Amino acid sequence: MDSPATVEHYKAGMLLSGVGDAIGFRWEFDYSGPAIHEAVKKLGGLKNITVELHDWPVSDDTVLHLATAEALATGKEGEELLQEVALRYVEGMKDMKGRAPGGCTTAEWNDQRQLHTSLRYLELRGLSSGTGPVVWPDPYGPAERDEAYKSFSWSGWGGSSGHDAPMIALDALLGAGSNWEELMNRVAFHGGDSDSTAVIACCCWGLLYGTEGVPPGNYNYLEYRDRLENSAVRLFELSH
Ligand SMILES: [Mg+2]
Repeated sequence: MDSPATVEHYKAGMLLSGVGDAIGFRWEFDYSGPAIHEAVKKLGGLKNITVELHDWPVSDDTVLHLATAEALATGKEGEELLQEVALRYVEGMKDMKGRAPGGCTTAEWNDQRQLHTSLRYLELRGLSSGTGPVVWPDPYGPAERDEAYKSFSWSGWGGSSGHDAPMIALDALLGAGSNWEELMNRVAFHGGDSDSTAVIACCCWGLLYGTEGVPPGNYNYLEYRDRLENSAVRLFELSH
């Protein structure tokens, strides 16, 4: 990033995170990336998707993302903050109807195998020394990505664990650059746990690029848009 993130970047991060979640959630339990790409095409493509509550609710991921953000936005610290987070998670668990809680909602990082897979991922992409350029397989379309994501995964379902969801999100961010549609192709339209990977990548993408190039229908009517943007403004204020 050339310049520091502005409040608009913070707002885009929270907002697009919810968008990625809501869109990815539609195909969370679909196990074929190529089939999901076909389904998106039948809807008229990403640009034609108007995300709103009835057809495109956010999932458990956004409910807990909001719980975390709103707890941080209180400005509390230390033990007091932990208690605030715990309270809001308990409240959040009451808002899970129709949101398929599981996987990343309760994920932990606690095993040597997880560390080993992460290091292998970095090696595969030529990033183990901490610098690029990124090495990509050729070809690396929807079918190849399904296989790759599965190979990084903890449970055989790419993105369903706190161990592999961030790796898949990073893979998509590196591959998509500033192209929103390409980001969604890689992170929301794959055969793994697509809302869990999209919620992470789309937040980072919004912080980097704002909402530039994102079709307004993707975010204008998103469920909890106000809460997402309000917590973003508060977090921006607290960090400056
Ligand atoms: Mg979810």
